[in-house]
Order: sequence, then C-alpha cells, then structure tokens
Amino acid sequence: MLAGNQGRWSVLLAAIAAITITTSASAQKAATGLPTDAEFQSAMQRAYSANKAVTEGKNADYIPALAKVDPKLFGIAILTVDGKVYSVGDTDHAFSIQSISKPFTAARLMSEMGVQKMEDKLGVNATGLPFNSIEAIERNKQQEEPPTGNPLVNAGAIATVGNLKAANADARWNSVINNLSAFAGRNLSVDQQIYKSEAETNTRNRSIADLLKAYEVIPGSPAEALDVYTRQCSVAVNVKDLAAMGATLATGGTNPLTGKTVVSPDVAAHTLAVMMTAGLYEDSGTWAYDVGVPAKSGVGGGIVAVVPGKYAVAAFAPPLDEAGNSVRSQRAIESIVKDLGGNVFHVAKRPAARPSPR
Ligand code: GLN
Repeated sequence: MLAGNQGRWSVLLAAIAAITITTSASAQKAATGLPTDAEFQSAMQRAYSANKAVTEGKNADYIPALAKVDPKLFGIAILTVDGKVYSVGDTDHAFSIQSISKPFTAARLMSEMGVQKMEDKLGVNATGLPFNSIEAIERNKQQEEPPTGNPLVNAGAIATVGNLKAANADARWNSVINNLSAFAGRNLSVDQQIYKSEAETNTRNRSIADLLKAYEVIPGSPAEALDVYTRQCSVAVNVKDLAAMGATLATGGTNPLTGKTVVSPDVAAHTLAVMMTAGLYEDSGTWAYDVGVPAKSGVGGGIVAVVPGKYAVAAFAPPLDEAGNSVRSQRAIESIVKDLGGNVFHVAKRPAARPSPR
C-alpha cells in the first residue's frame, strides 16, 4: 500500500517536473523569439554528425600554407544576440580568417565615409566572376560602374583597406585589427606563417592593387593597401570568434559578449545586404535561394552566417568547392538554419482570414 502510494507520488512529481521544463523552454522561446537551448543543441549536433565524415572538396593551395592545414578539422559555433554560445567539434582551432574579414572592414569604411559614399566608390553589386577576377574590374570600368564591383571581392576589399582614414601603414593596420577585434570581442592577431606564405605569392593581388591605383580607386600607396589587406586575411580566428563577429551584426552592431557598440544599426544592415549579394562569390545567388541568410566565406575554410535579430552560426572545415567555399561549412550551416527556421525570406503561413460579416 505504502509502496504503491510512493510509486504514484514519484510519477506525479516526474510529470510536474516535465511540465515545468517544457513551460520554461516555451517561456524562453516566447520571451526572446529565439529557438530553445535544446533546439540549438540538437540542430547543431545533427549538422555536425551528418557532415563530419564528408571528404568532398580540396584545401586552397594557391596560398601554400593553406594546403598544409589538416583537412579533417571541423567545428561549429552559434552565438545568440543575448550572448549564449553553443559549440561542437574543433571549436578552439585557430585558422586564417581570409575573406571573412572583408565585410567587417567594409562596415568600418561605411562608418567612416557613410553608406552612400561607400556604394558610389566601391559598388555593391555581384560581379558573377571569381573573387580575384581582373576581368571583372575591366568590365565594371567599361560599364561606368565602380571598377571594384563590391567590397567582398579582392579588388573591393583591397580598395576598402586603401580608403580607410590613416596617416601611415601602422595607423592603417591598427584601424583594421582594432575593428576586427571589436567585432570578435577579444584581441586578435596575425598568423605569421600564413601572412608570410601569402605575401610571398600574392602577385595577382598586386596587379589588382596597381590597376585600382591606375583607376584612382586607391588614394594612397597601392603597396601599403595590399600589405595591410594581406595581413588582414592572415588574422587567426576560431569558430567562436567568427560567431561573435556575426552576432555583432545580428544585434544591429553591438557585440553581445562585450556590450560594446562597434557599428550603427544602419551600417550593420548595409553590411548584411552586401553579404547576401556577394558573400559566397559567384555562388551567392544559389546560397540566398537555398538558405536565405547573409553569410561570408573565406578560403581558409570558415563561413559565418547571420540570422538578423537572432543569432550567428559559424563553421570551419578546410576543403573548398570550385567557387572557394568550404563544402562542410556550407552544408552544416544550411542544415542548422533550416532546422531552426532561420531563412529571412520565409514567413509562416497565416491562418485563413474569416470573411467579416456585413
Ligand atoms: N587572402 C585571400 C586572397 O586574397 C582571400 C581570398 C578568399 O578568402 N576568398 O586571395
């Protein structure tokens, strides 16, 4: 009799506990508009397990040091606008930021010169051509567009660096690294091995910088702009840093970890728009169509994607596809965004409106 009562009590207590957990999870969701902890965790785990063994793609090798990075590395991190972090895999492994630096430096230039002037000077349209295309510069010039195309291809990113306000090379570098560090919420630094390898082999970028000088897009020394750009691409980050950088755009410009405002909501919005148009190079249209979130990739294997007002998700896996985008990072982010309903164009179906009585 006593044993039977105890049994009933424990069932009742377990039921109350279950109800409390469910209601606190749905209260969390209702209060923040964000997925719950459990939803973030399971979406992330699913993306990780499904893609861990994928071997498609190839490390970038035009920068010799990148060819040597372990192709099996794989990590994912999510950071919400209220500062919660979820991560799995090789999350502390440092890799070079490469092109993911570009939108963040563009955001700084927009803050300095104004969003309109940045658009007039560097352009904000997709080039439809590879990120280091010289043909794109010539075509844009012929069409009387800004020769650079947009700030996320190499031409636009070198010109972004060259147009920052700075009296000399040191000041230019400080402007870049302090800004990237503010987005990440910690002091970042250069991976010297990557920098050396890239600086020794960046002949194509050198021609781009010189051509842009000829077209009067870089006001000062093209060699200085190129060197600071090369250092910027060699900055070492891990996936948590990238998630913090993305989450700073997701909040409208304030870093959720440090509480510091890095750019204005207006600049954050314009930055996300360029990421949507040109973040994954010539595959940006496919990405927007399939996944529907602004994102930026780098040839180091990282990608960061932003769900405005909610969270950022970053992934790292070195092997790239033809366009230069990490195969596993793209798949992992796509899976997470789909599981969590993050597509910014997706609107839930409304219940059918009842005709109002006349
Ligand atoms: N540093 C690389 C370059 O200039 C960046 C390219 C990239 O990540 N797509 O080629």
